[in-house]
Amino acid sequence: MNRILRATSKNNEVRAFVAETKDLVNTAVKIHRTTPVASAALGRLLTAGAIMGIGLKGTKDLITISIKGDGPLGGVLVTTDSNGYVKGYVNNPEVDIPLKENGKLDVSSAIGKGTLTVIRDFGLKEPYIGQVELVSGEIADDLTYYYASSEQVPSVIALGVLVDIDLTIKESGGFMIQLLPGATEETIQTIEKNIYEIPSVTTMFTEGLKAEDILGRILNGLEPKVHEIIQPEYKCNCNRKKVEKAIIGIGKKDIQEMIDDGKTIETNCHFCDKTYNFTIDELKVILEKADK
Ligand code: ZN
Repeated sequence: MNRILRATSKNNEVRAFVAETKDLVNTAVKIHRTTPVASAALGRLLTAGAIMGIGLKGTKDLITISIKGDGPLGGVLVTTDSNGYVKGYVNNPEVDIPLKENGKLDVSSAIGKGTLTVIRDFGLKEPYIGQVELVSGEIADDLTYYYASSEQVPSVIALGVLVDIDLTIKESGGFMIQLLPGATEETIQTIEKNIYEIPSVTTMFTEGLKAEDILGRILNGLEPKVHEIIQPEYKCNCNRKKVEKAIIGIGKKDIQEMIDDGKTIETNCHFCDKTYNFTIDELKVILEKADK
């Protein structure tokens, strides 16, 4: 089961989120048939996205996190909403590169150098867009840097995905700790000490720790209080109407070319791989709706 704990320290100087996301990442891996390194990249960003979505208030609010790099993976994109629904994809799910010397999946080499963009869409005229250069390509560090530089929120983010021999997800999850205004030096030092002392997220899960246990470790000495437990899910909300809108968006000229080709058009949703077919007659109707 997927779960995210939303908690604060008793002194209200820190908030924390701890996520177990094995099932939702497994769903994504099944849909996209990703290689282990692509699964790790996608799983880490899906976990981060699920955590970041919790802060959203409006039912139509959306956060999209997009990583674009010059490595063989190309990029990773994740969209999340306030219901705890996440979806995403990688540009090249077949990417296969050697493990790092320490035997870990080499996500940073798969991604390469590039940018991390966070788009916060609150249904207003213009979305809020923040962008930073990638600092490591390992995703958690890059998001930590994003929060510090683009949102001025000191954070600690850790994400981990462990892929099994049969390519399914063995463990997946992560946490985010954020300092709230007025956090004292003492609190900061306590967190630094806690973070220094804990092993990686996947190691903790492998040892049998649950989200509550991890929360206890990262906020050790700060008396964490859980306010809410959210159940995020991998879910796509695509439908025929949205695909039709996307076709209208490509313009009259290209739609006319499709019609001239004389073949039924098949399009797949990037997020869930669902197939939508449009016959020539249907394309002709769509052409009428396109205004340029
Ligand atoms: Zn879809």
